[in-house]
Amino acid sequence: MKHVEEYRRKDLVTKMANEIAAKIDRPMTLMEVCGTHTMAVHRHGMPEILPRQLRLLSGPGCPVCVTPISYIDAAIELSRRDDMTLATFGDLVRVPGSSTSLERRKAEGADVVIVYSPLDAVSLAGQRPDRHVVFLAVGFETTAPTVAASISEAKSKGVKNFSVLVGHKLVPPALVALLQDKEVKIDGFICPGHVSTIIGAKAYEPIVNEFGVPCVVAGFEPVDILAALSWLVEMVVTSKPQVRNAYTRVVTENGNTAALKCMYEVFEAQDSTWRGLGAIPASGLTMKDAYEELDAVNRFGLTMQDVPETSGCRCGDVLRGAVEPTECALFAVRCTPERPVGPCMVSSEGTCAAFYKYRLRR
Ligand code: SF4
Repeated sequence: MKHVEEYRRKDLVTKMANEIAAKIDRPMTLMEVCGTHTMAVHRHGMPEILPRQLRLLSGPGCPVCVTPISYIDAAIELSRRDDMTLATFGDLVRVPGSSTSLERRKAEGADVVIVYSPLDAVSLAGQRPDRHVVFLAVGFETTAPTVAASISEAKSKGVKNFSVLVGHKLVPPALVALLQDKEVKIDGFICPGHVSTIIGAKAYEPIVNEFGVPCVVAGFEPVDILAALSWLVEMVVTSKPQVRNAYTRVVTENGNTAALKCMYEVFEAQDSTWRGLGAIPASGLTMKDAYEELDAVNRFGLTMQDVPETSGCRCGDVLRGAVEPTECALFAVRCTPERPVGPCMVSSEGTCAAFYKYRLRR
């Protein structure tokens, strides 16, 4: 993968970085809210070419990172049942709960299986009729439609030994919560490319209308991100906030209406707790009543108890943009990718992991 210096040699990137520097007339803070943007920004060394007045923060864009400890604890509780198989994506198994992790439970003999699609978990249930398979569904609007499709498939096929522990989150309500946070002043958002593919650029209009903060949907190449930053700086300087789309090759105004229909056939919005941001109204998904037999919370009588953060870990503050990973006393000392203390170091999209991998090395 190229460092931005390689791109810099191309006229376009140099021109775009210079344009931003020429436009900016005051200190401003912009935030990207997507784990893939976080990794792209640091992998390409972008902070090194931005003007000093421009602070680019990484927000709560990593789904594993924003999943609260209470969800991990509920999954660990399930893993203690004799007839239980947990199916999950890879990163989640390493996230510490309040007493252990799914990785450690697996080493102790719990049946925890890594899958690449929720439909694989439905197939697994068919292959193991003597066990109950729970799929651990975390993620934003990007993954929720495929999880909804797997729930519909399990229901239509009458699969009785399959359910889902739903931890899905919705991005726009989290942006509102960030703008209401008095500790962090955000002047504009780079909106997530993948999520926007589903929800469409229009989904950010209420944020612009209510808070006067500009939003630009961006792709993942350095020029995509620089284009978004250039537009954001211009809109802040001219006080003309809008939603703009710098990723039109993928994202449309209204998003993927078929995927949204599939998602809202199965799920409805509900209040949800985010690590670092707390409870946010209508920021999560829950299954509709018609699917309640496929909801692991109902089926196994699970309760999600609020749990304090791991001592010393500042993931919550990192996710709000209140501190940078290097301001955490554990960063690169007690907390490394090999021995992570918090989810922001576990996840391949976490801000602490990005700082460790790309910023520390440089
Ligand atoms: Fe948490 Fe580790 Fe990041 Fe500190 S460096 S905030 S302990 S994940």
